[in-house]
Amino acid sequence: MALRKQSRTTGEVKRPLARYQRMRDFSATAEPRGEDASRPKTGKAGTLLFVVQKHAATRLHYDFRLGWDGVLKSWAVTKGPSYYPGDKRLAVRVEDHPWDYRNFEGTIPKGQYGGGTVMVWDQGSWTPHGDVDQGLKDGHLKFELHGKKLKGEWVLVRMHGRAGWPGKENSGKENWLLIKEKDKFARDSSDEPITEEAPNSAVSGRTMEEIAAKSDRVWNSAGRNAKEARSVAAGEKARAVAPDAQPSRARGKRT
Ligand code: MN
Repeated sequence: MALRKQSRTTGEVKRPLARYQRMRDFSATAEPRGEDASRPKTGKAGTLLFVVQKHAATRLHYDFRLGWDGVLKSWAVTKGPSYYPGDKRLAVRVEDHPWDYRNFEGTIPKGQYGGGTVMVWDQGSWTPHGDVDQGLKDGHLKFELHGKKLKGEWVLVRMHGRAGWPGKENSGKENWLLIKEKDKFARDSSDEPITEEAPNSAVSGRTMEEIAAKSDRVWNSAGRNAKEARSVAAGEKARAVAPDAQPSRARGKRT
């Protein structure tokens, strides 16, 4: 990609998944660890990919993820995307997720970080307008989406002031806004919201209830007994976690 540029400088960028890995207990959840560094991180012909995952955690939200620099840059959109340009949807920046995360649809066990049902609500490719790394740094990212549900021009803009989820303003997370730009895909405020018009999975057509009922896709490591899973996970954790990292137990925040 001509626009793609290698990020550098900060430790967070060198190990972009460190935060993601610290926040999860891989002995209890089988979410991807993000250790597939050798695999390509783009779609066919180098296209950039995005996914929106509908996530029924403590509070229903939509995780908006842009594949970039080998990971999924992620925002939790409280009310979900809107095609009405007058809707400025709060999008709380969350930790980068592993590339493999984009395909997951299933259940994170109760009591684990983000416990609840995850649906691949939309997916497709995206085209950045301008320098993505600079846009992430400056807090202004314009792009076009080529999804099954989300199309056309969109912008993510970082807000000034205190960061955080509503009611948790001290969480240290950045507040951004996801806004539809005016184009042929834009809709009126009176139109049915896309989240209601097309509520089901973009890959399986399933409802949240149908996904929740399918225990075979739960992210617990199937076929492994708990003790074995713990010892495997402990070994992997020891390699993956930096000496100054916090314990990897879930901190009780649900995003
Ligand atoms: Mn989430």
